[in-house]
Amino acid sequence: SLSVEELEQAVKWDASGLVPAIVQAASSKEVLMLAYMNRESLRKSVETGLTWFWSRSRTELWNKGATSGNTQRITALKYDCDGDTLLVEVIASGPACHTGEPTCFYRTAAAAESEVAATSTGARGGSDERFKVLAELEQLIAERYAERPEGAYTTYLFEKGLDKILKKVGEETAESIIAAKNGDNAELRYEVSDLIYHLLVLLRERNLPLDDIMQELERRHERPRRD
Ligand code: AMP
Ligand code: ZN
Ligand code: ZN
Repeated sequence: SLSVEELEQAVKWDASGLVPAIVQAASSKEVLMLAYMNRESLRKSVETGLTWFWSRSRTELWNKGATSGNTQRITALKYDCDGDTLLVEVIASGPACHTGEPTCFYRTAAAAESEVAATSTGARGGSDERFKVLAELEQLIAERYAERPEGAYTTYLFEKGLDKILKKVGEETAESIIAAKNGDNAELRYEVSDLIYHLLVLLRERNLPLDDIMQELERRHERPRRD
């Protein structure tokens, strides 16, 4: 990798001696914030391994988190094709935004219809957050399986047994197909949710952990190379 001096050379500083720096979460790749660096903040960032910027409003050097405690430890520093933008990958110790939001980009101005559901169900927390509900649902179903509380629909399914569960999976699959054919995404969202719930009940009944499915998907999935 480059020395600070070489990096300073590679960067195309604007007329004010600044370069925009995109800050990204190292693990989730979520974009956290955009700020500006001058030569000194770039040097301090490299030296300390923490993010330093130039505050254009306060006209002062700014160590992110110095007052809030929400510092960002740098794991990678990249610059783009023409050197006019930095990308800072970090592990953040707290929210990036001064509003307390994890990312400054918590407001959606426009989204394609298929993206609306994803952004409104908490994509802001990154993909791990988004899929947490699946693990929680699996856990809840396991509790119902073990305890069989009276009156719970999940208890009813387990009491009826495998054939009943399979029938429900078939029904919910058919209903998902119909919803998709109707072009009705509200209906599709509802039916696919029903389907996923019943699939989790099936996995519990057959004693197949959701983790096994995840690992199978991992094995099949070839990741595009980074860098
Ligand atoms: P901090 O750097 O988190 O200690 O916050 C100090 C001050 O920097 C805040 O009061 C804000 O004025 C500003 N600030 C912090 N985070 C951001 C951000 N993500 N974008 C813009 N300004 C920020
Ligand atoms: Zn560029
Ligand atoms: Zn912000």
